[in-house]
Amino acid sequence: MFDNLSEKLNTIFKKLKGHGHLTEEHINKALKEVKLALLEADVNYKVVKEFLNRVKEKAIGQEVMRSLTPAQQVIKIVRDELTTLMGGSGAELNLKGMPSIIMLVGLQGSGKTTTCAKLAKFLKEKGGKSSYLVPADTYRPAAIEQLQKLGQQLGIEVFPAQNSQTPMEICINALTEARRRGYDAIIIDTAGRLHIDEKMMDELKQLKERLMPQEILLVADAMTGQDAVNIAKTFNQALGITGVILTKMEGDARGGAALSIKAVTQKPIKFVGVGEKLNALEVFYPDRVASRILG
Ligand code: GDP
Repeated sequence: MFDNLSEKLNTIFKKLKGHGHLTEEHINKALKEVKLALLEADVNYKVVKEFLNRVKEKAIGQEVMRSLTPAQQVIKIVRDELTTLMGGSGAELNLKGMPSIIMLVGLQGSGKTTTCAKLAKFLKEKGGKSSYLVPADTYRPAAIEQLQKLGQQLGIEVFPAQNSQTPMEICINALTEARRRGYDAIIIDTAGRLHIDEKMMDELKQLKERLMPQEILLVADAMTGQDAVNIAKTFNQALGITGVILTKMEGDARGGAALSIKAVTQKPIKFVGVGEKLNALEVFYPDRVASRILG
């Protein structure tokens, strides 16, 4: 995760620390290199430009240059701005419903079904909350069976959906059942497609209108970089999402999606998937990630 960017930034700042006294030129040169490093990490160009402007405004000035540890000050400014870029102190799930309705949306192959199961396990173990898994992906063959199997593995109940039912029927029946049985949350695996299409979006909009979910989380594959950012943007514009779960982060050495999504969509990354196993889901804390990037 962020390995390449982290290595580059560390080299840049090591050089900066090598100057006892910092001039404006030193800082400008370092920030130019930071810009290149971010672009190479596949961060959205506009996001990089605005980021650098904010850093520059704070880093260039007497206060930083006259301080006893000027390079440390610059690094702190970059760390703080990276944190802000990714969403500040982190965003919690809204679990105020009875049950809380959490819809996972996204394209096929993004990791939606797996993430439903991971999230149910997470809520059970970290929050002591009971979840009802709802397989409403009637589009991808075997998605229903996949969720049923994952639920079995975890000892988490899965609504017995039939492929002959519509997603709306599945969700309404599951919600009634969840209310009756007193679950804390229902987690809905919605149908994706290979590409964004109108039919999928309409189906999701209808579900949203009818169910009024507390959370609509877009599941996107971090390895696809700026494609993931564009997908998040489109889903947010068409449907209105409450956050993003970025999957396959452990295989993404660049980190461009994670660094761009909040700035482009204004919606926070709430979790990241870091492996195929069902415990490989982590809460996304921008401040910790920024510290990790800067070593
Ligand atoms: P869906 O079509 O969106 O429901 O996708 P699936 O849940 O079936 O996931 C597609 C593939 O991605 C599966 O092989 C998952 O095991 C894998 N996957 C999901 N999340 C992660 C992750 O965080 N890391 C890795 N490496 N693989 C993941």
